[in-house]
Amino acid sequence: MRTVLLGAPGAGKGTIAKQLTAHDGSVQISTGDILRGAVKAGSELGKKAQGYMERGDLVPDSLIMDIMEARLQEPDAKKGFILDGFPRTIPQAEALKVLLQKLAIKLDTVINIDVPKAVILDRLTTRRTCSNSDCQEIYNVKSKPASPDGKCLKCGSPVVQRADETEEAITIRLATYNEKTAPLIDFYRKEGLLKTVSSLSSEEIVKEIIKGVK
Ligand code: AMP
Repeated sequence: MRTVLLGAPGAGKGTIAKQLTAHDGSVQISTGDILRGAVKAGSELGKKAQGYMERGDLVPDSLIMDIMEARLQEPDAKKGFILDGFPRTIPQAEALKVLLQKLAIKLDTVINIDVPKAVILDRLTTRRTCSNSDCQEIYNVKSKPASPDGKCLKCGSPVVQRADETEEAITIRLATYNEKTAPLIDFYRKEGLLKTVSSLSSEEIVKEIIKGVK
């Protein structure tokens, strides 16, 4: 499938994308994961992105579009892709439209994951992430804990709280979402691609998405 997952930070995009990947072999493309990998590797991209990310601000559109133009042309994206955390602004959505036209690719659907704000806040403050940039498994101190000594159950690396998951950064990320990303809901509604799902269970959402794409 060729899908965009829209939703506030903490809506569950990453978890849902991973489950969809397991369903049909589509690749998860998370700009957040790519950027965290670049920061960890200390690459030029990472150096440019780090400050924005730690504050909870968006990385400039031009950097993101360079990443996506290259990523969508990698061989594994041919089978399908689930865009997780991209596009995040109207200019990114417009640039994606042009890029997909150039690559002769059509989106199947855009899924808007609608989760109440109180749930989002609770999830973000209790979320932990595997520090291994090749793994990045997501944990939750209440509902999905890592090992008792704080290690990833998949790869054994330490599980950490992301630098942008402090209360201050979370507040900025949610305000940024409302201002810059929420307008994409209307953008994709007008494009005739939008489907809104509002369950709190990722399994239920995945079932609904799969049913809708068939
Ligand atoms: P995420 O893991 O998707 O919440 O992304 C973490 C951080 O990476 C965001 O708060 C932004 O600083 C940056 N980021 C990820 N994706 C994008 C994007 N599409 N546009 C701009 N910044 C992004």
